[in-house]
Amino acid sequence: MKKIFLEDEPDLEIFLRHNSNSRRITLRISALDGKITITGPNYLDFKEFRKFAESKKSWLKSKRKAFEPPIFISEGIKIPIMGTYTEISFSDVREPKKIGGILFVSKEKPVSTQVKKYLQEIGRIHIAYMCKEFAERLGSKVHKITLRDTRSRWGSCSNDANLMFSWRLVMAPEDVLAYVVAHEVAHLKHMNHSKDFWGTVEYLFGPYKKERTWLKQNGSSLHRYKFDN
Ligand SMILES: [Zn+2]
Repeated sequence: MKKIFLEDEPDLEIFLRHNSNSRRITLRISALDGKITITGPNYLDFKEFRKFAESKKSWLKSKRKAFEPPIFISEGIKIPIMGTYTEISFSDVREPKKIGGILFVSKEKPVSTQVKKYLQEIGRIHIAYMCKEFAERLGSKVHKITLRDTRSRWGSCSNDANLMFSWRLVMAPEDVLAYVVAHEVAHLKHMNHSKDFWGTVEYLFGPYKKERTWLKQNGSSLHRYKFDN
């Protein structure tokens, strides 16, 4: 099978296959390993294969994200904390301690458990602070804040002013975290995604397009980090 790479996308490997039975060009991504295969009739030349692949580039890129290999938390691994890469390193500490670009953890306890707890703790502090700031500006009050490890949504807001956030957001850039908090706090005023709602988000946070796009394009990468090993 011939293999090509798309322009400017050295990670996007595509396998090309001629099949005498196929009448048209088809694109397949294996659900198992994310392998991308384009199959086409025998008469199709590679230039046409490439043209087809290039036309699907952005779609392929977003699909491919879901197949990035998992990263298991251990010593020596770098994780983003508020968007800054931080290396996990052993030291003589009782509780995880971040100094500059290094997160020191104890040798005595499982690394992933310590790092997860640390992320949840600083996540809780930052999210609680941001909630308070945004809610005050809105003249509203947040009832309860819960952190979870959710896959389908980054945050939610209930009718009784309980807010939920994914603690993984603490690995996103700080502005992205702040945008999600502003978004959920804005729901205290508008329980919908109306024009007024987005106006409130902008009033609280400012222009939010960049952060919203970051989440759409990179949010799934925050799920690559595995803490349960
Ligand atoms: Zn919403």
